Amino acid sequence: MFVQLKETLQAGGRIDRDQAEWLFTACPDEELRELAQIVRGRYHAPTAASWLKMAIVNYTNVCVARCDYCAFYRFPGQPDTYTLSFEQVRAKIDALVALGGDMVGFNGGFHPDLSLEHYTELFAKCRATFPELAFYEMTIAEFMFVAKRGKWSYADAAKAFADSGTRWITGGGSEVLDDAFRMRHSPGKYKVEDYYDAQRAVLNAGMGSTATMVIGFDESLEERLNHIERLRSFQDQEDGRLTSFLCWTYKPYETELGGAEVSLNEYLRWMATCRIYLDNIKHLRTSVLTRNNDAMMGLAYGADDFDLPTEDEVTQSAGATISHDFEGVLNSARELGFDPQHRSPFPVWTDAQ
Ligand code: SF4
Repeated sequence: MFVQLKETLQAGGRIDRDQAEWLFTACPDEELRELAQIVRGRYHAPTAASWLKMAIVNYTNVCVARCDYCAFYRFPGQPDTYTLSFEQVRAKIDALVALGGDMVGFNGGFHPDLSLEHYTELFAKCRATFPELAFYEMTIAEFMFVAKRGKWSYADAAKAFADSGTRWITGGGSEVLDDAFRMRHSPGKYKVEDYYDAQRAVLNAGMGSTATMVIGFDESLEERLNHIERLRSFQDQEDGRLTSFLCWTYKPYETELGGAEVSLNEYLRWMATCRIYLDNIKHLRTSVLTRNNDAMMGLAYGADDFDLPTEDEVTQSAGATISHDFEGVLNSARELGFDPQHRSPFPVWTDAQ
């Protein structure tokens, strides 16, 4: 199987779902890395790697979705809920700037009292105050909730965000895009087709978006494969408009679901499988947020890019530890033979035309 797949990939070909399953479950590690580097090499030089510094600002922990894998949210009315004012958001962004940061990702709960206009005003103030930074202003999951709450169609809501100056609504909040998984763990959040309808509306409004995935809950391999199969198909249909794919691992501490973290080897093998299968996504990102310095090994399994995170309360609530020893992470990449270079935020696909 390895020789056949190698020939296919060297000829610029594509693997199918069964072959992806074989890669993850049976391909020896060294051969898996070799195949991942073939697809990586279609887009990037062998030792190239890029990074930027990013804070995730969690503007509210109020959420009505009740995902059982989430240690961050509080239901409305609970005593330890919060919603940050603009001044509080600004203080967090000031802290990022002091650390030499490049980008802010906003991520919060499904707050039932915050309207689309609340978000567009908050984000516009942030852009005006920090014109030197890039902003990931929402995730698709939050976007869907805000649109539904205000009875907006996805197209109209996306247009309203784009008209207000929003550049990115990222593919966060996707975890495992499989309806059986979603029914088990977050039945009120969305259905998979709904997710892609929303993401298509975001892209059609001229904004950028990304793909993400989280592994290590109780998802089956079948469910993981459903996620990447549907994602590749969507990316084909949308002419490659999703900029990047980021996979990270579930942190189980303090969550209702509980469980144990997946091993580093499982994470790396899944990363390589994704690099090979998702051949229509240019950038594959490895997660320092959930794997710390070990994430740099992902570069050898097909990744080419990563964030140096400065804060993210969502994953920290569930056990993630964030270090500001940025040079230590970069040195880990160098020790593996990579040449990590600071980059500018990726352009929105419309800018790149
Ligand atoms: S993962 Fe997001 S949507 Fe789900 S409960 Fe947590 S904050 Fe809410």
